[in-house]
Amino acid sequence: MIVEGVNIARKHQRPTRATQQGGIIDRDMPLPVSNVALVCPSCGKPTRVGYKIDASGQKARVCKRCGGEIS
Ligand SMILES: [Zn+2]
Repeated sequence: MIVEGVNIARKHQRPTRATQQGGIIDRDMPLPVSNVALVCPSCGKPTRVGYKIDASGQKARVCKRCGGEIS
């Protein structure tokens, strides 16, 4: 997943034939989901995310606090 503005890789890039652009380029990098404080839509509190397999075999994210499903 990508969290904007949290995990920025700042690349000092020289102009190349491909980009035609030099200077400093900010890139959002993928951040491990475990590092993100997620607010559960069910209980409205910051929570950790757990996983469960639902009836159709799909992996679902659930709130570890209240057990509510998080889409
Ligand atoms: Zn919850």
